[in-house]
Amino acid sequence: MKPKTESLEARRRRLESIIQALKQKYPDAPLALRFSNPLELLVAVILSAQCTDERVNQVTQTLFRKYRRPEDYLKVSQAELEDDIRPTGYYRNKARSLKACCRMLVETFQGEVPRSIEEMTRLPGVGRKTAAMVLGNAFGIQQGIAVDTHVRRVVERLQLSEKKTPEKVEQDLMEWVPRQEWTWFSNAMILHGRHVCTARHPRCHECVIAPWCPYPEKPDTN
Ligand code: SF4
Repeated sequence: MKPKTESLEARRRRLESIIQALKQKYPDAPLALRFSNPLELLVAVILSAQCTDERVNQVTQTLFRKYRRPEDYLKVSQAELEDDIRPTGYYRNKARSLKACCRMLVETFQGEVPRSIEEMTRLPGVGRKTAAMVLGNAFGIQQGIAVDTHVRRVVERLQLSEKKTPEKVEQDLMEWVPRQEWTWFSNAMILHGRHVCTARHPRCHECVIAPWCPYPEKPDTN
């Protein structure tokens, strides 16, 4: 648990214990999204907005056979692409994003997914979360920590950052989490948020990081 006032040094030590416990529980922490190259992961992450990873995987199983290169997304009509990704929801916006993103990949990056967060975030519809996720998981390049809704929730309950935007929470985490762990840490926190520290009913009684979490002390947790 966390004392009422906590120095930055004490918080850093608490985070070290949390990382160790998460390592035991999620040694590999793979992403649930299926992909076999950086373009596929980029597309899968774009499709995963407001959609479950299971549904995205169902759709991409056939999608990735038809669309192998960025050019393939540009060859088809907007309506055809919408049809191919329809089950993931928000398919009009997603089809627009995919086309705009692939157009820039072709016109600016020689058809390749770029390998830096600065270049990745130039792609239409790609923010730091998507960029960090793709760079870390497809290339093994640690240039950011993906802060999605699960990571934000778990970080907030753990009181590891008081910041209110994903970008600022990411800055705090990048300061405290060792760089070589950035991708693993993000993936592990996503898994933990999905399966244990869930939005409505966190399963604190079976949580491996409960000893370092102030949240169970709150009266409204059960
Ligand atoms: S103890 Fe509860 S609130 Fe804290 S991280 Fe674990 S599940 Fe989440």
